[in-house]
Amino acid sequence: MACKVTALPAFDNAILTGKAVMNTSIRVKSMPYLEQNFSKRLLRWFQENQRDLPWRRTYHPYHVWISEIMLQQTQMERVVAYFSRFIRRFPDIADLARADEDELLKLWEGLGYYSRARNLHRAARMLADQGGRLPESYEELIKLPGIGPYTASAIMAIAYNRPHTVLDANVERFFARLLDIDKPVKDKAVIRQIRSRVAELLPPAQPRAFNQALMEFGALVCKPGLANCGICPFQKGCQALRAGTVGERPVLPVRKATVAINMACGLVKRRGRFLIQKRCSNDVWANLWEFPGGCLEPGESPEQAVVREYQEETELGVRPTAKIATVRHSYMNYRVTLHAFFCDLLADQGEPALHAAQEARWVTTHELDNYAFPAGHRKLIAYLQETSQSWSGR
Ligand code: SF4
Repeated sequence: MACKVTALPAFDNAILTGKAVMNTSIRVKSMPYLEQNFSKRLLRWFQENQRDLPWRRTYHPYHVWISEIMLQQTQMERVVAYFSRFIRRFPDIADLARADEDELLKLWEGLGYYSRARNLHRAARMLADQGGRLPESYEELIKLPGIGPYTASAIMAIAYNRPHTVLDANVERFFARLLDIDKPVKDKAVIRQIRSRVAELLPPAQPRAFNQALMEFGALVCKPGLANCGICPFQKGCQALRAGTVGERPVLPVRKATVAINMACGLVKRRGRFLIQKRCSNDVWANLWEFPGGCLEPGESPEQAVVREYQEETELGVRPTAKIATVRHSYMNYRVTLHAFFCDLLADQGEPALHAAQEARWVTTHELDNYAFPAGHRKLIAYLQETSQSWSGR
């Protein structure tokens, strides 16, 4: 696979007179201007502009680990609030290992991708048995649940200041623009090329600062959408800026088609308490709580789906009496529409069966806040609580 060789900007020719770097899959000209000054400029920029993030105050390996797991799939601003709460509650690996999973999931509620919390828990338990310290080698880190090559490299570089390269979407975007790469930035050949350029530029004594500086620069200056080229210290060497292609870089992979999912759930009250059930541990949203319900079958109305789902999952006969709300939310490429109803029990039928759950409870509106729910159900609860006056007769 060959990548376009972008012409070097004329105004940089006096200093950009270096060799061409080639490999079998992608060709870009090397940029001595960047190689000589890049790291210095970048580190200076980082020193002056880095955000004050809680894990940057100590670079404690446990803190870096938790932050890296939270940052997978979640934006920085959101992570900061969750991180501080998490560390207050579980200050070290031993505390996390002893955590009650329900409490852990509750603390994670709103961050999504709950397998991250479950993997953290499993890893902490493994580590607690081995002395309660996070390993200091890439090979040992990558054996832990939830830690892949990216996270292992990030922990090695940021927590232990070891010379590993950390390529996140911010770094990929930054380099795709600097080098004006016209191939999809997730192509293996492109990733290899960017990784090798980052490795060449990495100052051996400062991998912690350098890797974070790259990511920070991509997040704050060479941003998705509108890059802040006017304040960029790398304007002279930026090939996309020179070529007028900043808006077209990085070339993104074709997006997966959105999948619409229609769901319905029923809120059944008995003696002032709602029925909730805890999903099975091998399920999507494993171990989270929900109001019983499920996906609509072809040709089925939301009301019919609620009646059928209650019968199948709990063996309780119910009748929808009022629509509460339609809640929409998205995760990955799924767009979920959740239809929620108040339902009456057809008779006093005893306790629900557990065909799709590991546990069921009857809880007050106030107690709903003690349980971790998937995003759609949590939005529904917030709506219920906001509008509780309207439902007070139910
Ligand atoms: S000049 Fe613009 S596009 Fe190029 S590296 Fe700087 S911010 Fe990014």
